[in-house]
Amino acid sequence: MKIGFNEGCNRFCENHSVLEDLDLCEKYGVDFIDIQSECLDREIAAGKYTIDDLAAWFADPKHHLKMLSYNALVFFNMKETQEEKDAVMAELDKIIDVCNKLQCKMIVVVPSMDIEWCQPTIDDIRKDAVEVLREMVKKCDPHGIKLSIEFIGQPTMTINRFEDALAIVEEVGSPNVGITLDQYHFHGQASSFESLEKADGKRIFIWHLNGVENVPCGAKYNTDEKRLWPDEPGDCLPHKRFADTLKKIGFEGDVCTMEVFRPDYYKLTNEENIKQAAEHTRAHVAKYWDN
Ligand code: ZN
Repeated sequence: MKIGFNEGCNRFCENHSVLEDLDLCEKYGVDFIDIQSECLDREIAAGKYTIDDLAAWFADPKHHLKMLSYNALVFFNMKETQEEKDAVMAELDKIIDVCNKLQCKMIVVVPSMDIEWCQPTIDDIRKDAVEVLREMVKKCDPHGIKLSIEFIGQPTMTINRFEDALAIVEEVGSPNVGITLDQYHFHGQASSFESLEKADGKRIFIWHLNGVENVPCGAKYNTDEKRLWPDEPGDCLPHKRFADTLKKIGFEGDVCTMEVFRPDYYKLTNEENIKQAAEHTRAHVAKYWDN
């Protein structure tokens, strides 16, 4: 099992820079990085580096670190107007360009939230998502790029449980569309282990590792900020069950990627944050996976 780092962990650390993250991940033996689009957009706008600088870094044969995913195209579904739908596809075109430059073969897509123009049922949401994803696949397939839906375990998200994301992916029926299984989001709206146990592990493209404080489902304060390094005091997630289930169903992603968004961890330096994330991920894999 390889080690991954998601920039959710350090995006608000002082003087954050994606370019610096690449060097630091390399230094601490990380194999893969999920690059956060909000970091890219903000730092390129500030003139910290260019996409070409990042491309040159990944093209350097001395570097071992690879980009696992572009994280993310947000609010891809349940658009009201054709204009809004077209804007999503135009954004996808731009992201594909970036991925091609950075040798990245996966785009994470995040569902829309707080829908007000209609009150869709889960069936309505599935039908819409399947249509949008099939159109996206046509754009991504020629580049060998996969799409990974990250269901978000918050009440107002249109796709907020594993089983609903799985039904969408199964109906799309493309080997290039799968799921990002984020443990925090799985717990957040009480997705069922029964559905995960029945799923085909090949449908899970990305595994986001984290712990979380034991706060109620749907509580307003049950946010990403409650995430923890796994097995820290107060973490309530059943890590052995997650790992054993992923093994049993044949997860082939081969990367365990740390993703927390804890304000306390943003007080660390970028280097200390990445060092700790790498250590916690490695320890987790040794404890629950490679044994
Ligand atoms: Zn995640």
